[in-house]
Amino acid sequence: MNIPSSPRKLKVLILSTPVGALGSGLGGGVELTIANLARELQSRGHTIEIVAPAGSYLGDLSIVQVPGELQLTAQTQEQAAAIVMPSDPVLANMWAKARNIQHDYDIIFNTAFDWLPFYLTPFFDRPIAHFVSMGSQIAAIDLAIERVAIDYPGTIGVCTRTQAETFRFADLCTVVGGSGVDPAVYEYCKHPEPALAWLGRISPEKALEDAVAAAQRTGIKLKIMGKIQDAAYWEQIQRDYPTAPIEYLGFLPTHELQQALGTCQGLLMTPRWVEAFGNVAIESFACGVPVIAYRRGGPAEIITDGKTGFLVEPDSIEGLVTAIGRLDEIDRADCRHAAETVFSQAAWGNVMESWFYRLVE
Ligand code: UDP
Repeated sequence: MNIPSSPRKLKVLILSTPVGALGSGLGGGVELTIANLARELQSRGHTIEIVAPAGSYLGDLSIVQVPGELQLTAQTQEQAAAIVMPSDPVLANMWAKARNIQHDYDIIFNTAFDWLPFYLTPFFDRPIAHFVSMGSQIAAIDLAIERVAIDYPGTIGVCTRTQAETFRFADLCTVVGGSGVDPAVYEYCKHPEPALAWLGRISPEKALEDAVAAAQRTGIKLKIMGKIQDAAYWEQIQRDYPTAPIEYLGFLPTHELQQALGTCQGLLMTPRWVEAFGNVAIESFACGVPVIAYRRGGPAEIITDGKTGFLVEPDSIEGLVTAIGRLDEIDRADCRHAAETVFSQAAWGNVMESWFYRLVE
C-alpha cells in the first residue's frame, strides 16, 4: 500500500523592505504582507526567518535585526533617478547576511522594491522569489527586474495584472496577489456609525486631499489613520481644508485599526498613482466595510463594483460624493464574505506556497 508522503516543508528566508523597520509603518502594506505570510506558512509547518532593519518588531515573529541606513522610497523619486546607496546601507547589509545564511534555507523571498536584490540574484545559489509591490517607478529598477524576469522565469511575482502592465515585461510576471487577511483578527461590524475612513501612508501619491474634499462636501466625518510620511504635505491639507470634518487617529496597530475602521460606513481609497494592490481594501472588507476607490490600479481588481463597494472615475471628487450617497446599497456581509474567501490569508497562502514549491523544484 502506498502511503502518500506529506508535502515537503520549506525553509523560507524573508528579506524585508529597506525603507523602514517592520512595525514603523514606513514600509506600507509590505509590513502586513510579511507578517501574514510568515504566520500562514508557519501554521502550515514551514520554517520562516525574517531579515529586517534594526528596530523591527512583529509581535510573535522572530526577526534577524540588521543595522544600517534606510533606503529612499522609490515612489518619491523620478523615473530617471540614479540608484543611490547611503554610506552604510541596511539594504546591502541585509543581503550580505542573506548570502551568509542562504544554505540554511530552500528559498529566499525578497520584498524590497530596489535595484540591489535584482542585481544580486545571479550571485546567489538559492532561488529568489521576488515580490514586486509597486508599479514602474524608476527606469533603472525596471531594467534590473526585467533582466531577472528573463533569466529566471517565474521568479517575478506581482500583486495585480494592472500593476504588471506598468512594466514592459508584464507578460513575464506571475500574479500572486498582494496579501490575505486572517478574518479572526478583524471583527465584522454590521451596523456602522455615520463616518468614513481613510487609511494609509500620508504621502502625495495617496492623495488624501481628495478624501478630505469629499468629506467636506458631504459633511460626514472622515477618520484618518496612518503613518505621516510627508509632514509638509499633511500640514498643507490641513491648511487647505481648515473646516473639513476630519479626525486624525494616528498610526494604529491592527487591533485598534480594525476597531476604528469597522464602525465606518465606507473606506475611501483615492490613490493618484497606480496602486499595486491596496491591503487596506481587504482589511476593510474583513470588517464588513465597503470600499469606494478610483477605477485605477489594484483596487479596481479587488472591488466588485456595486457589491463590495464602488469604483469611480479617477480623481473625481464628484464621483466619490455620489458613491458615498449610495453606500447603504451595499450588503456589508458581502464584504466580509470576500475577506473570508477570495482575500483570506489561507487562500493567499495557497498561492504563495505553490509559487514557492514551483521555484524550489
Ligand atoms: N496601516 C496600519 N495602521 C494605520 C494605517 C495603515 O497598520 O493606522 C497599514 C495597513 O494595515 C496596510 C498598510 O498600512 O497594511 C498600507 O498598505 P497599502 O497596501 O494599503 O498601501 P502601501 O502603503 O503599501 O502603498
